[in-house]
Amino acid sequence: MSSRILYTSVFTILILALILCAIDARRRLNALGRSVSLLDIAFIPPILGNCIIIMSHSKMLSMAGSYIYFIGMDFMVYALMGFVQEYCKLGGKAKSPPKWIHFLLITDIVQYIFNPFTGHAFDLKRIAFEGEVFYSLVPHIGQVYHRVVVYGIFLATIIGLIVTTLHASRIYRERYSVILFALIGLVLWQTYYIVKNLPIDRSMIGFGIVGVLIYYFAMYYRPLKLLDRILSGVVSNGSEAVFIFTPKGRCIWTNKEGCYLVGVQENNCENAPELLEYLFNTELRKGNWSERHVTGGGDSVKYYMLENRDVVDEEKHFSGYYLKVRDITEEELKLKHEIFEATHDKLTGLFTREYLYKLIKAEIRDHSTTKYLVVFINIKNFKIVNDIFGTEFGDHTLKHIADYLRDNLSARCTYGRIEGDNFGVLAPADEFDKDMLEDRLSKLTIRTDTAEYPVLVQLGVYEVTREESDVITMFARARLALATLGEDFSKHIAFYDDDIRKEILWNQEIAAQLQEAIANRDIRPYLQPIVDGNGDIVGAEALVRWVHKEHGFLAPYKFIPSLEKNGKIAEVDKYMWRCACEILQKWKNKGWNQFISVNISPKDFYYLDVPKYITSLAKEYDLDPGRLRVEITETVMMNDTEKIIGILDEFRKGGFIVEMDDFGSGYSSLNMLKDMPVDVLKIDMKFLGKSDDEQRADTIVNSIINLSRELGITSLTEGVETEGQYSGLSDMGCKLFQGYYFSKPVPVEEFEALVESRNEARHTRPA
Ligand code: C2E
Ligand code: CA
Ligand code: CA
Repeated sequence: MSSRILYTSVFTILILALILCAIDARRRLNALGRSVSLLDIAFIPPILGNCIIIMSHSKMLSMAGSYIYFIGMDFMVYALMGFVQEYCKLGGKAKSPPKWIHFLLITDIVQYIFNPFTGHAFDLKRIAFEGEVFYSLVPHIGQVYHRVVVYGIFLATIIGLIVTTLHASRIYRERYSVILFALIGLVLWQTYYIVKNLPIDRSMIGFGIVGVLIYYFAMYYRPLKLLDRILSGVVSNGSEAVFIFTPKGRCIWTNKEGCYLVGVQENNCENAPELLEYLFNTELRKGNWSERHVTGGGDSVKYYMLENRDVVDEEKHFSGYYLKVRDITEEELKLKHEIFEATHDKLTGLFTREYLYKLIKAEIRDHSTTKYLVVFINIKNFKIVNDIFGTEFGDHTLKHIADYLRDNLSARCTYGRIEGDNFGVLAPADEFDKDMLEDRLSKLTIRTDTAEYPVLVQLGVYEVTREESDVITMFARARLALATLGEDFSKHIAFYDDDIRKEILWNQEIAAQLQEAIANRDIRPYLQPIVDGNGDIVGAEALVRWVHKEHGFLAPYKFIPSLEKNGKIAEVDKYMWRCACEILQKWKNKGWNQFISVNISPKDFYYLDVPKYITSLAKEYDLDPGRLRVEITETVMMNDTEKIIGILDEFRKGGFIVEMDDFGSGYSSLNMLKDMPVDVLKIDMKFLGKSDDEQRADTIVNSIINLSRELGITSLTEGVETEGQYSGLSDMGCKLFQGYYFSKPVPVEEFEALVESRNEARHTRPA
């Protein structure tokens, strides 16, 4: 085969290869892809020009090939410069070639355009080569310019590449040197042909090959050494200690952290396995495993995560394993701190409610045979403690109690702060010494730097039963037991028992049914006569009764205390007052002049403006206020004296008669009577009858009656059960009487019948 055909074919193949490379590089859509694509396209004109020169038998065609060749070279160096800049940039934007380079290249192209007229650049001469006719170059001054420009740019590019290569870190040198050596080879090959001036420029093969090489290196090649270096750099400088072992367990490499961890010099890691096993007290072994280890203690405690991985090669042969040791102390301590914060109360350092409940639940579950008590601890009137002594003292008190729990409860007890002034304890029943605690609590005082104050701490106790698993309910019950202590300051501990449970259910039931009972008139007034010294019924006390659908007849003690606790008593009282007004209106129409006394609960004052309410009722029923009497218990007057005096005055100004109920039940002194704006004093026999010495009781009643007479207050004795009592009290000067001796409280109709029959009896009584 002739050289002509051979090289034409080779060049054509190279051109096709370059086109394919250019297309593929272009598809990358990034700057490097574009520069590679442009360079590969720029390699084509010189090769194509040369191909034409080789093929042509005419001077004209050779000339055309030469122009394509030379001008193509201008493009090629330009594209090369762009590519190298793009290839060597490490992030950021590549610099574009300086303006004067554009100028040089454009001048070169322009001078070739003039060459056909001036012939200053080159000419071709016919020669015989390997027995065939070719046209060979005859360079003139213009061609020298071309070579200077092309070589200059080419060499400048190479020098630039060398400088970049020298400055680059070692791992990048490989990437640059491949391109660098390819370009140097290309220059030398070109130079050889220029010097020899051979008609067939074989260095064009180099153009094609370099074009393909650049495409491959820039687009695909990721040198393994580079990857290795990067990976080993990551491992060497990483924060984890890494140890690499042979399949037999010999340590062959460790990084800086690894050396530091086990205390060996670099490249001297043979002892590492023993040191690691000693440090973590664990056996090193192949396999994929991870373990958490703790070393040291106290302030020098360290937490580590050990992670072992087997390494297998492509043929699935076990080629060793590596161990990573990560110091997780900081994370662990942070986590521990966070857990502590979330589970502990800030002020006292005790467990928070949620965590306490969780622990208690687990404790009960895990010790199914132990008998446990749940204890709810409350500081009585803590709000007042805070108000009077300040929150600082309040906090001090809470801390004191927390310390007490810490110092005195055994490890079998679980305790924490539930909220505010409430603490909770789960204690095995055998550790709960009630008498000892009562004794201690009765003597409990809180000391500050300057003083010592008594603080009342009360405990509600619930015995855990197997059926009950809800800790919230357990504490709710313990709390209910505590509520039974009420204002009794002498007792500090109360147990939840069946009575409390029944009472709670009962309270819930009546509260739920109250409204309906009022609407149905199941709740209704009974009247108990009030009699004067002549035995005439002058009035009545309205006493509430509930005829319950299920439980039958209910006396007030069955439901009033519970309604007083939940505040619903005002509903009942408002209703009772209205009933009294209705009855009085009816009597007024009949021409009767009996009065009715109604009861006012101390709790009513919290929910109502009682005088205003009762006044408007009297107006509504068009009653003489004197017919409606109001009974207020003695204990109320004791508690909030000034306020109550104001209220009583208001009643009296409105024309109502005010009665002080249950006189003698409380601790009121006779002395305070003179300050109390009351019209009637109700002396209860059952309080006075308590006295063993009947003579003494008589003396007391006598002096009360005398005193009230002196103060202008009418005295009324209630609880009169015998004729003897009636006459005795009459003789003492008592004006009004109420009691079973006359009648029990009875339904309204029965009361009215009683009045009528009495009146009749009086009328038929012989004069
Ligand atoms: P209280 O106001 O002291 O009412 C007198 C109580 O003594 C009544 O009990 C009455 O039945 C009872 N009693 C009357 N005579 C005798 C007697 O000779 N011997 C004995 N042993 N007891 C006698 P009751 O009706 O069970 O009422 C108890 C308490 O319930 C009342 O005491 C009062 O504090 C309260 N209460 C009754 N009705 C109402 C009401 O409508 N509203 C309010 N807030 N409380 C009421
Ligand atoms: Ca009463
Ligand atoms: Ca009474």
